[in-house]
Amino acid sequence: MSQLLPWQMDAWNRTRAQAVEKKLPHGLLLSGPADSGKSEFVDQLARYLLCSDPADEACGQCSQCLLNEAGTHPDYLTVTLEDSKQIRIEQIRELIEWTQQTAQQGGGKFCVISPADKLNVQSSNALLKCLEEPPAETTICLVTNEPARLLPTIRSRCQQIITDHPKRRDAISWLQLQNVEGDLALLLDIAGGSPLRVVRTMNEDYLALRTEISTALTALSFGQLSPIGLASTLSSHDPVQVLDLTYSFILESMKYEQAGEGQVSAKDQVDALASFSRASAVNHRQALLDRVNEAKSSLSSTANANTQMLLEWVFAGAA
Ligand SMILES: [Zn+2]
Repeated sequence: MSQLLPWQMDAWNRTRAQAVEKKLPHGLLLSGPADSGKSEFVDQLARYLLCSDPADEACGQCSQCLLNEAGTHPDYLTVTLEDSKQIRIEQIRELIEWTQQTAQQGGGKFCVISPADKLNVQSSNALLKCLEEPPAETTICLVTNEPARLLPTIRSRCQQIITDHPKRRDAISWLQLQNVEGDLALLLDIAGGSPLRVVRTMNEDYLALRTEISTALTALSFGQLSPIGLASTLSSHDPVQVLDLTYSFILESMKYEQAGEGQVSAKDQVDALASFSRASAVNHRQALLDRVNEAKSSLSSTANANTQMLLEWVFAGAA
């Protein structure tokens, strides 16, 4: 079972106090950067609200908690992306039907919608009605990295709960407790300050891909590698990771150029950043960044995007 993370305790205690006083709104919006622990938080909240005998957290032992542990609680519903890139109106209609049924376990009901920024206009409008006239004893929690993408009318009907990454010192202590090996400060910098991302993503393969991308981008800027060649070497990897790593390498090179080595997070890549900055004009790098962003949104909105072609197009931006 997922645990609350130490840096969430303030938000947790505030939310729990509202629940104890029966003042927790029906509509909640949990937002925060990727890998800040939103799923841990929302799962613990669901367990807590459904538990028959909660204390500081869900008891973990009552029949409600056991159903949750097994992932089979009938009054805990998750609405997420299925085979489409959006949360469809049919899914929200099913959710509304579910809210109208009596709770099977006789307690409250909890629904999580994640990622809520993938609600389209139709599904948002359908959900709005449900948030305006909330069914009794039902909590609907929207979860998103990008609250700004939600309809303002949806946002205004929810109480916002924000989770963030921990402070650097706390993040490093937490990584030590997880027995993560290596240069923790460096890993945390590469992970944009998210210790959860260090644990989830920073394995050997990821770090090897990161090195491969920095070397390849440098070779590209020196004309030793073509955009097509680079795209074909990288197309077997997860395209989102390739794009993210490309983006952060370029961004770091700009920091390096403007503010010097001291401002760079990728301390292990200073040499590559120096050669890349020398060889690649700033407007080329800016063009690359724009193309990475465009490619990312096209990946998230197109089913079965052609990775090879997409990467070729991105890297052609640097040539
Ligand atoms: Zn319990």
